[in-house]
Amino acid sequence: MKISGLQKLTLLDYPGHLACTVFTAGCNFRCPFCQNASLVLPSKEISQYREEEILNFLSSRKHILEGLCISGGEPTMQPDLTDFIRKVKSMGYSVKLDTNGTHPKLLRELIEDQLIDMVAMDIKNSKESYPKTSGIEILNINSIEESVDLLKEGRIPYEFRTTIVRELHTKKDMDDIGKWLYGSSPYYLQAFVDSGDLIGTNLTGYSKQELIELLEIVSPYLPNASLRGID
Ligand code: SF4
Repeated sequence: MKISGLQKLTLLDYPGHLACTVFTAGCNFRCPFCQNASLVLPSKEISQYREEEILNFLSSRKHILEGLCISGGEPTMQPDLTDFIRKVKSMGYSVKLDTNGTHPKLLRELIEDQLIDMVAMDIKNSKESYPKTSGIEILNINSIEESVDLLKEGRIPYEFRTTIVRELHTKKDMDDIGKWLYGSSPYYLQAFVDSGDLIGTNLTGYSKQELIELLEIVSPYLPNASLRGID
């Protein structure tokens, strides 16, 4: 596992769990609004933690922490992800996986083998706007659709979420996302905030009022939609 970051305690990343988060290095997307450019770009990619260090840390926190959130970068790009999760699960931890949904086969295996307990999947944008929003011109949207359909089977808790950027997300996009995800899935509109470690430039967020209006567009399709990260 190439692990470039460890947040030793989080109350937010894994809902309902006292958890820590590991950030894997590398991603197959280049979302301009990515907050973790240093985890994603090969020129900056570095593995700062040996897997053994993480496992030792988890072992030492076994009686304090309940869960591990595996985020990125894109964790499903790690060839030894399954083995790593098996080791974490054997310690008694619950595992939440953050993913962009590009590896539905692996996602299905992890769910069927009961190795993950929750998934948060990014919905970058409407299908039509996925290439510009993911930074990948030629994109296999089928894999994203397959992951959406898999999670909607509801075998384990999950959420969909979209980081909303003024320059990338239109009202029409939000309407299309609503129609695509249609149903009772938990769905979060997340406000874009410039972390200072972005892949793209000249991106801005919507105001709170504008985000509420975008939420109103998706809510008829997705009654469990809400805003996240808005005061
Ligand atoms: S925001 Fe995009 S580029 Fe950044 S880690 Fe997530 S999927 Fe990869």
